[in-house]
Amino acid sequence: MLRKKTNGVARRSQRTSILSDVANASVDRRAFLRGSGLAIGGLAAIAATGGTVTQASAQTAVNGAVETIKSVCTHCSVGCTVIAEVQNGVWTGQEPGWDSPFNLGAHCSKGAAVREHAHGERRLKYPMKKEGGEWKRISWEQAINEIGDGMMQIRDESGPDSVYWLGSAKHNNEQAFLFRKFAAYWGTNNVDHQARICHSTTVAGVANTWGYGAMTNSYNDIHNSKAIFIIGGNPAEAHPVSLLHVLKAKEQNNAPLIVCDPRFTRTAAHADEFVRFRPGTDVALVWGILWHIFENGWEDKEFIRNGVLGMDLIKDVVDML
Ligand code: SF4
Repeated sequence: MLRKKTNGVARRSQRTSILSDVANASVDRRAFLRGSGLAIGGLAAIAATGGTVTQASAQTAVNGAVETIKSVCTHCSVGCTVIAEVQNGVWTGQEPGWDSPFNLGAHCSKGAAVREHAHGERRLKYPMKKEGGEWKRISWEQAINEIGDGMMQIRDESGPDSVYWLGSAKHNNEQAFLFRKFAAYWGTNNVDHQARICHSTTVAGVANTWGYGAMTNSYNDIHNSKAIFIIGGNPAEAHPVSLLHVLKAKEQNNAPLIVCDPRFTRTAAHADEFVRFRPGTDVALVWGILWHIFENGWEDKEFIRNGVLGMDLIKDVVDML
């Protein structure tokens, strides 16, 4: 599960070498069909961009020494280690960081595709404008002027509060500061961080439960677990990198993994104990588990005494079940 399966560079490089493999191979019927499919796919990709996207001028990766450069996935705050493989200054492949304490030798699908941000053929590299149903390349000056004029018109017609400025989770402190200032110069305090949208529910839930709306533990704490209980979560699909930490605890501590879910999810497939319950009965399930814990005296009394408020009230309710 956590064993490294390959050593050194990726066995297969990117699309360019797949195409050259096809070109160099002797053409039997199967190779011809495969090559034709690639050619049609390539033409379709060109058609999809309206034929207006031209290849960025870059150095060509030549066969030769592969330099590996340690970097960080730019997508989310986990900060998984990416080992970029670089040939002649061109980023040709990547591996996850095997010694990284964050991603333990894995990436989620976003991280696995992070090279595409820099080198993807369909990456947006300059301003494009759709005119008459076709995307056309425009200059930065035209783009900035047109967007700026449009926004000024909105402000004139509807006022500065008609615009909402939404910051990014990938902004650093200084970028967030400038973004905030920009909104203030615009004339509104309708400015926020995207976590307001994606984490508002967790912040509300965690703040009510733990007193503060933030993560209570680090991933590495999961490794110390003696037992793991997952309900209402499916990290195998929602956050595969976090699942690796669960699997590590399972492996190194022999921690039993209990998954409760109405569906047999990919996370459930890793469980030692899978409990399928009817949708909408999760609260009843949790109260039922509590009843058995109290009935058998299995609760950690010292932990409750030191860190839990209101457990007596919960016990009173459970006693009534
Ligand atoms: S969890 Fe995925 S998106 Fe987040 S840093 Fe790791 S690879 Fe990137």
